[in-house]
Amino acid sequence: MSRIVHLNGAFLPEQEAKVSIFDRGYYFGDGVYEVTAVVDGKLVDYAPHMERLDRSLRELSMPWPCTKDELRAVHEELAKRNGITEGLIYMQVTRGVAERDFAFPKNIPSTLMAFTQVKALVDSPNAKTGVKVVSIPDIRWKRRDIKSIALLAQCMGKQQASEAGAFEGWMVEDGFVTEGTSSSSYIVKEGRVITRPLSNAILPGITRKSLMKLAADHDVTIEERLFSVDEAIAADEAFLTSASSFVMPVVEIDGHPIGSAKPGPITTRLRQIYLESARA
Ligand code: PMP
Repeated sequence: MSRIVHLNGAFLPEQEAKVSIFDRGYYFGDGVYEVTAVVDGKLVDYAPHMERLDRSLRELSMPWPCTKDELRAVHEELAKRNGITEGLIYMQVTRGVAERDFAFPKNIPSTLMAFTQVKALVDSPNAKTGVKVVSIPDIRWKRRDIKSIALLAQCMGKQQASEAGAFEGWMVEDGFVTEGTSSSSYIVKEGRVITRPLSNAILPGITRKSLMKLAADHDVTIEERLFSVDEAIAADEAFLTSASSFVMPVVEIDGHPIGSAKPGPITTRLRQIYLESARA
């Protein structure tokens, strides 16, 4: 059965949703996106995802494609029409259709597209065993805080990780881990969780933001500072977060086991706390 997707105000079978070859998203990657999880048929962390979308749009002088209420209705309607009780909703806004010219065109309508993906998020087999990570160089641009659809460096990184038999690539710049190709990175040492502070060098993860608040509520200390791959290898535990992985244990980095090479107790507890909050 084909999915019902959303394009510029219309709900359509996926085969019927067509975009112009002159859309700037197509030839410049001129657009931004969000991915929101659905659990028990409900959107997880929807409000902060939309706050980040608002920020990405403003940083690129792009207007909202519709009202905030309309965008929420698009998400809810897509989940309903496709019977999604657990999975993801991907949405993107591109600057719109215009003759190819680098500078931003004025007053053109943006293109809004959204679709659903079915995915087992809560009972993820990877979360039970933990995943492997390899370190790779961070070759991205300098505005990684904007959730741009231009993700070629991340695709190359994920491909490299995949060819090495790993789930994720942790990108390294000036000797320190920035983040995963599609996730935020953490290590745990002596009971403290360590993660890189926010800056233009990384995407402000929404799962990271929620987890930091939940950790504080549960007396788990999160220290925001840089860490290296060597420090990660010597850590007691490691994990990553994203809307599609929630809290995912990392049990191996560059072939070296982390701690007991099994999901660690703090990681396991944080995953539980996050899941409880997502389902609340
Ligand atoms: N960093 C990068 C580079 C990402 O692509 C993602 C996921 N899109 C994240 C971090 C995690 O962000 P979130 O928790 O909002 O999914």
